[in-house]
Amino acid sequence: MSLTLTRTDLLKEQNFIDGQWRDCINGFKHEVADPATGATFASVSDSSAVDAQMAATAAQTAFDGWRALPARERARFLKRWHALIVENSEDLAKIISREQGKPLAEARGEVAYGASYVEWFSEEAVRSYGDIIPEQVGGKKLMVTKEPVGVVAAITPWNFPLAMIARKIAPALAAGCTVVAKPAEDTPLTALALVRLAEEAGIPPGVLNIVTSSREKVKEVVGAWLTDTRVRKITFTGSTAVGKHLARESADTLKRLSLELGGNAPFIVFEDAELDAAVNGLMAAKFRNGGQTCVSPNRVYVHDAVYAQFAEKLVARVEALRVGPATRDDSLIGPMINARAVDKIESHVQDALARGGKLLTGGKRVKNDVADGPNYFAPTVIIEANHDMALASEETFGPVVPLFRFSDENEVVRLANNTPYGLAAYFYSRDIARVSRVAGRLQAGIVGINEGALASEAAPFGGVKESGYGREGSRYGLDDYMQTKYHCQGGFA
Ligand code: NAP
Repeated sequence: MSLTLTRTDLLKEQNFIDGQWRDCINGFKHEVADPATGATFASVSDSSAVDAQMAATAAQTAFDGWRALPARERARFLKRWHALIVENSEDLAKIISREQGKPLAEARGEVAYGASYVEWFSEEAVRSYGDIIPEQVGGKKLMVTKEPVGVVAAITPWNFPLAMIARKIAPALAAGCTVVAKPAEDTPLTALALVRLAEEAGIPPGVLNIVTSSREKVKEVVGAWLTDTRVRKITFTGSTAVGKHLARESADTLKRLSLELGGNAPFIVFEDAELDAAVNGLMAAKFRNGGQTCVSPNRVYVHDAVYAQFAEKLVARVEALRVGPATRDDSLIGPMINARAVDKIESHVQDALARGGKLLTGGKRVKNDVADGPNYFAPTVIIEANHDMALASEETFGPVVPLFRFSDENEVVRLANNTPYGLAAYFYSRDIARVSRVAGRLQAGIVGINEGALASEAAPFGGVKESGYGREGSRYGLDDYMQTKYHCQGGFA
């Protein structure tokens, strides 16, 4: 595997089950491709249901010991894991960039972001308080405690291969749960490296297990967990279609679910907005990871009175974005994850142009001496967007900004909410009455007000409507991995 790291032992290609690195039972492998070139550079286990069951057995066996540890001791394991992630952040960033394609500076940011959840939950581990309820009937004491839900299956996407899995494993372990994890087919190496560091942190065998698989085998691997009564919770980040499938398939065993799903984020620029700040916010929110984020603004609504001015300012900034591989320091937009992703972006752009959109910049694939690969797409701005276009209702998941016009607050709030999704929503306004009015009416789990960068380990991240349920980060993030027990103790009369 050609990837120069300080610690070559972070490059793992096997499953980790019950404290052992091992090939999957059938010995099959699937290949990992570099999105910058399309060339494969590693191969990991292509597991089956048997491997998934072995991982669940290990997690179930380890559960009693892990949950019985004092919270302070679980916290110490997480603190050691956090320190190792920080210590090895450069190697982790290189692995992320290589398998996912984001520029190295962004990958470093992702490591810091993912690590912040591990640190946060190492601190929250000791704060899962219960309640004492005042005596209602003489002679009875009423007490509420929180307990870990049990074995948790974590299934994660490719767009943030470190942060998405870290913010599931950390609260689960802090709560006293044990974990079986399956990373995305395209980006297994970062998750495996993270688990290697958890092993080094001394996290006991069976507490954290990871099984990799190809897209062809994913239904079999995850399916084994969905029907397994020992797995008490599924925590999933990914598309709404797969989230619904998991909800249906886990119904027979009534598992707890946390679903962090897709979005279709509106970004509204009112006529009283500070335009430069709004452009800055849009650039930060839209072009992070080349537009491949769940909170990426998908529909940008700009008031008629500032439409032309906003478009002009935006285009100047978008044209300055350099497209290139993660290995170049000056790349700001890396390759898209794979050929399917570029095909979808291209089809959205062509559809928008066929339905009356006007292209101000970009709009096509990029191939030149610097961006010399199959998966590059130019940062794009389309004006006169309308709601007949596919990009108005589907996540484009790429570097494409469609600008919609509006002239009335009520109308734009209705349009913003007119989607089955409800993850993030953004707006820019300097009118304080409007700020509280619009923030209250937007149907979203996360609202950015005069701000484009929203994520924080200290805040609850998650959606409403078909963007899912459950929250990651903050004190709410621990609750997702705990269940409430009521103790009624008599005999005090
Ligand atoms: P995806 O296709 O739903 O895949 C996510 C994970 O589910 C991957 O590990 C995938 O494995 C697995 N999977 C796919 N089909 C499955 C099935 N039938 N049964 C069980 N597991 C299955 O999503 P993606 O394309 O990787 O990620 C992009 C999506 O994630 C976007 O919609 C984005 O908005 C959403 N997202 C949401 C958040 C959030 O916090 N709300 C954050 C990031 C991304 P394979 O890779 O092997 O297919």
